Amino acid sequence: MTVMAAKTEVLTLPEPLLKARRLTVKIGSALVVNAETGEADIDWMRGMAQDVAALMREGKQVMIVSSGAGALGRRYLGLTGSRLRLDQKQAAAAVGQPRLMQAWEGVFNELGLKTAQVLLTREDTEKRRRWLNARATIETLFDLGCVPIVNENDTVVTEEIRYGDNDRLAARAAQLVQSEALILLSDIDGLYTADPRKNPEARHIPLVEKLDADIEAMAGGANTSAGVGTGGMATKIAAARIAGSAGCSTTIAYGAMLRPLSALGSGAKFTLIRAQSSVTAAYKAWIAGTVVPAGEVVLDDGAVAALKSGKSLLPSGIVEVHGSFDKGDSISILGVNGCEHARGIVAYGADEIRLIKGRPSKEIEGLLGYTAGDVIIHRDNMAFI
Ligand code: GLU
Repeated sequence: MTVMAAKTEVLTLPEPLLKARRLTVKIGSALVVNAETGEADIDWMRGMAQDVAALMREGKQVMIVSSGAGALGRRYLGLTGSRLRLDQKQAAAAVGQPRLMQAWEGVFNELGLKTAQVLLTREDTEKRRRWLNARATIETLFDLGCVPIVNENDTVVTEEIRYGDNDRLAARAAQLVQSEALILLSDIDGLYTADPRKNPEARHIPLVEKLDADIEAMAGGANTSAGVGTGGMATKIAAARIAGSAGCSTTIAYGAMLRPLSALGSGAKFTLIRAQSSVTAAYKAWIAGTVVPAGEVVLDDGAVAALKSGKSLLPSGIVEVHGSFDKGDSISILGVNGCEHARGIVAYGADEIRLIKGRPSKEIEGLLGYTAGDVIIHRDNMAFI
């Protein structure tokens, strides 16, 4: 019955989450792991799946960043000591991650939805080729109607190269897929002017237009155990900063009740930290700001005019290729007079473009033996200078 009811339900989020086409929801271990049993909290997860399904029915795409691998694995292995070695923690994550996914998969399958496990390391969001690859995979998962469930690849990352906390991982993942909204589910319903558990005068802050020093100070600055709310508020602000720089707003909301996203839709308090620009503007500024473009392509006048009218760059308009660059690099787009018109991220490497320049896109596969699509630089990956 519940499942049937959930199938028609819709969830109307408050502005500006309502406008977001793609949402990233970060869920901490305390929400998915039942503190008493140490098992996955299926009731809570089922509610979350129902909320996500309702959002998907409204045409939104939702990515979940879920912690819980370590906690589930530790309990399962009986690794109860408070000071586990790194290898023990990693072993626990190796055991807990499939258990976590099994739980997510179960609750989404009840609603006819498929889930996908995406394990990221910091390098996946920092090295351009890996970044592009991870992004393309998650895009495809969205196209296939799957719910990507992201976690850090705890089993293989070492202390120096880990995100360490899923707030920042979620912000990077949100940036990776150009999410417009990041929702951090927490044990408190947002930011307060002081710690509401200690200070009755503490006021809730519903909206942060700009993350400034005052807000950083309220969240405890670099000291994660000081300041408002939970020990984790400082990492939430750090996450909001990362997300904001990519045009993604951050919402901090209370998560420890059933169906916290529905609660947002029916008036629960939250703090919204606005991004300073849109996702597209932030991404284009990032492309335009490439310090040293990896190479150049020279276009004929017709191709320059086509780009300016909003078209993508096709091989047919390219007359010359300069430099050696790889797929995924940012390059300059020049006119025949040498003037730089735009920059963009290429879908093919320099040597490949040398083989296909001046030719119609339908010949790409024959000339290269494979195709990465018809365009050399998609208009979404291009910024005019
Ligand atoms: N990736 C860790 C886990 O799944 C959690 C890290 C965090 O919660 O910030 O156990």
